Amino acid sequence: MKPILTPEEYKYLYRLTEKATPLKSDCGKLCNSICCQQNETDSLGMYLFPGEEVMFTGKEDWLAWERHDPKEYDFPASWPFPVNFVKCSRACPRELRPLACRFYPLTPHIFKNGSWILIYDTLDLPYRCPLIEEQLTMEPNFIETVAKAWSILLKDHRINTLVREDSEERENASLRVPTVVWKSQKLR
Ligand code: SF4
Ligand code: SF4
Repeated sequence: MKPILTPEEYKYLYRLTEKATPLKSDCGKLCNSICCQQNETDSLGMYLFPGEEVMFTGKEDWLAWERHDPKEYDFPASWPFPVNFVKCSRACPRELRPLACRFYPLTPHIFKNGSWILIYDTLDLPYRCPLIEEQLTMEPNFIETVAKAWSILLKDHRINTLVREDSEERENASLRVPTVVWKSQKLR
């Protein structure tokens, strides 16, 4: 059977990443927390990883849920329905923020030989993150924590496939040359 993450692993990932932040100070002060603000059409949000919904009751009054069909939103065929897309109506209780928020602005990139790195996110967003734009030096503990979390997430075949597909697309599109922030020590 192909490996998928368990609720216990998600609980561990939330504990692992709870306190890690890109800077010692609050990076939201650099940009008025622009990545937490809604746009005019109320369409900005984050996807949860498959199974991550166990970390929520579904009744959080700061979170609106949309259930997306993976086929219509360009997710790998292995992703089950629904893919949960969540949108914030106000500032979250920090300890409950989704993994996507805990990792930003870093994202993994997998090469064809199986090795992987962390790079600045290349998503086309309607705002600019100063950490990316100015390539500010981030806390080593933040980078190591995000790398450790991703080494666990990438064991889930569905997440691994998504990252591989995104990486291939990134290479084909040659968007911007990714800046390597962290490099794994061994090939997988
Ligand atoms: S946009 Fe970047 S700098 Fe601003 S709060 Fe988000 S992660 Fe921090
Ligand atoms: S969950 Fe929290 S950190 Fe994430 S976008 Fe919403 S307010 Fe910002």
